[in-house]
Amino acid sequence: MVNNKEIRVRFAPSPTGHLHVGNSRVAIFNWLFAKHNNGKYLLRIENTDVERSTKEYLNSQLASLEWLDLLPDEPILYQMSRLEEHKKVINELLEKGLAYPCFCDPVELDKKRAEFMQAGKTYKYNGACRNLKYSKDDKRLNEPHAIRFKVPSDCNFVEFEDLVRGKVRLDSEYLDDFVIMRRDGTPTYNFVVVVDDIYMKISHVIRGEDHISNTHKQILIYNALEAEIPKFAHLPMILGPGGKRLSKRDAATSVKDYRKQGFLPDALFNYLVRLGWSHGDQEVFTKEEMIKYFEFDHVGKKGAIFDIKKLEWLNGVYLRKKSFEELLNAIKDLNTNYHQKIQELWDADKLKSLFEQYKQRSTRLLDMVLDIISLSKDPKVLDLELIKKWHNSKTLELLKKFLEKFKNVENISHDNLLDLAKIICKEQELKLVFLAQPLRLALTGKISSPGIFNLISILGKNITVRRVSALINKLENKE
Ligand code: GLU
Repeated sequence: MVNNKEIRVRFAPSPTGHLHVGNSRVAIFNWLFAKHNNGKYLLRIENTDVERSTKEYLNSQLASLEWLDLLPDEPILYQMSRLEEHKKVINELLEKGLAYPCFCDPVELDKKRAEFMQAGKTYKYNGACRNLKYSKDDKRLNEPHAIRFKVPSDCNFVEFEDLVRGKVRLDSEYLDDFVIMRRDGTPTYNFVVVVDDIYMKISHVIRGEDHISNTHKQILIYNALEAEIPKFAHLPMILGPGGKRLSKRDAATSVKDYRKQGFLPDALFNYLVRLGWSHGDQEVFTKEEMIKYFEFDHVGKKGAIFDIKKLEWLNGVYLRKKSFEELLNAIKDLNTNYHQKIQELWDADKLKSLFEQYKQRSTRLLDMVLDIISLSKDPKVLDLELIKKWHNSKTLELLKKFLEKFKNVENISHDNLLDLAKIICKEQELKLVFLAQPLRLALTGKISSPGIFNLISILGKNITVRRVSALINKLENKE
């Protein structure tokens, strides 16, 4: 509660695409603000653009919200279901003389707008229909017409106090009588958003700063409807590395793509909160901490640059915190049959040990799963180029020695294997890496992996002997 008034916020996406990461951050900030103030976080689906809104996008957005744990505290409101109410309010404004029908030809208006723009001037509707008297029985209303809001003639400017950016003022020379209902009978965004926010008793409108220029118009509508104006907070945009709005060229833009690539919902949530909000230099937050600390005072005014490396780092932090069962469950998000496949390839104990090893160094769950899947098969290619730094005249000897001794070791624990390897390397006066890297290549086909002696102890004797022998063969044939 702020001033004894219940805090009610809403996230209001249009289902005209998949949920964008930038928009999911808007949802997150709404959610945090509501939770911080013991308020309500609501969801309104703005599906009035019937041509571009689809069921597929709606379901996809809801699935992404659910995945991020951002489903609302009250039933979802679908804006289209309120169309009749919107029209009723338009009629009220017409009756009161606060709006008027406009019969101007839209093609002509568009032409004028284009001319203005070309000349670098701000276009304003010339008010040709502003003084038409409205009467519901007027025969002319059968002709195609739009409805415009009549900006009060004594309005010199509109100003509001934004919770992020402070005072934002627009002088009336930049305002014109804007359309609130199109010729096709559909009300416009700037109008319905106000009618619905009043209906939903929204106390704070938290949204992207691309809506700042709409806010002044919306305030005029609140005034015309004699409704209390909510507080506004406009969040800076998420930018790509080039400083422009994040686009597909910079990184994946939809939440569902991050899900598929193996980012964990908690990690993405944490990353998006920190993107443009800070609490000292803390990076990793529990949800409870975020709720406790969240204030608009610490939301930056400047656009925040999306940094995929930092998101990967944070995802790694979260991966390491997850239990085997949690990770196994998260694999279902990868949108493939990996969940089943990985369990067919590995028995549960081995899989658990492999997860333990791989999560220490992975950043994306997808990469980790692919690595573990590929580890189940002998490497197809042993590319000796990869180990050229650690390959010398003693390599073959080193591997043979290791294999010979390894065959006789009873306990293939990590520590035993490490001791064994150290002794062999010492005899040959070589550093451990000269044995470890060829072994890694033999076992995984790669030169980076979790600790190789850990992997050997998980893979077991047969597999290790087979794969190391294959490398020995290859080296022998080469020499
Ligand atoms: N449907 C609008 C959008 O997705 C909502 C804007 C608002 O929150 O008022 O941008």
